[in-house]
Amino acid sequence: MSERQLSDNIANLLARVSRAVEKYQRNADEVTVLAVSKTRPAGTVRAAAQLGLRAFGENYLQEALEKMVDLADLDLQWHFIGPIQSNKTRAIAEHFHWVHSVDRLKVARRLSEQRPSHLPPLQLCLQVNISGEPSKAGVDLDELPALAAAVAGLPNITLRGLMTIPAPCDDPARQRAPFAALREAMAALPLAGLDTLSMGMSGDFEAAIAEGATLIRVGTDIFGARG
Ligand SMILES: *Cc1c(COP(=O)(O)O)cnc(C)c1O
Repeated sequence: MSERQLSDNIANLLARVSRAVEKYQRNADEVTVLAVSKTRPAGTVRAAAQLGLRAFGENYLQEALEKMVDLADLDLQWHFIGPIQSNKTRAIAEHFHWVHSVDRLKVARRLSEQRPSHLPPLQLCLQVNISGEPSKAGVDLDELPALAAAVAGLPNITLRGLMTIPAPCDDPARQRAPFAALREAMAALPLAGLDTLSMGMSGDFEAAIAEGATLIRVGTDIFGARG
């Protein structure tokens, strides 16, 4: 993608975010764009950073680590948003600022144990299977309170909130319900300090902003369709 195209995409995205923020009476500084850069080369991430984006989301560990080396001269914030196998937790704990895709206590414990002591706590969201789809990643709603309580008690990580990927839905009128459910699930947790709802992607971020998203994860609308 040309820099011109990238620049246009980012400007268009930020304008849509601003309109949604206004329409749904949110505060502009409460909604952050996480640029999902999986499968995009380091040069594209660098160009996006030069255009003002700072937080990047990656799904594949090895690919992400390589980009971090290439981009070490930039002050970027890296978010891990993909499925986590137990043997990947050490590298995630060592190299990322945030993790959005934790849905098991075992993984959270390992991230906590493996977070290097010279780094600030790892910022963590629990992924919730909000649409209740079988075989989908994420903790079920009925198991969320126990998992959240256990994770909140771990050292070296800070539980910030919840993340979800609802079942795909093209109908804007029906996109809001799962996001509302995630917001309500977080509000019902008896824990202080939860301030992050990681929800909304290219196809549904306006609905997510309507329901309180603080962090929208956008790939396609920034970088184009993935090959
Ligand atoms: C790929 C991905 C995104 C971005 O999706 P787009 O539809 O390209 O905006 C967001 N969140 C997660 C967890 C992803 O894997």
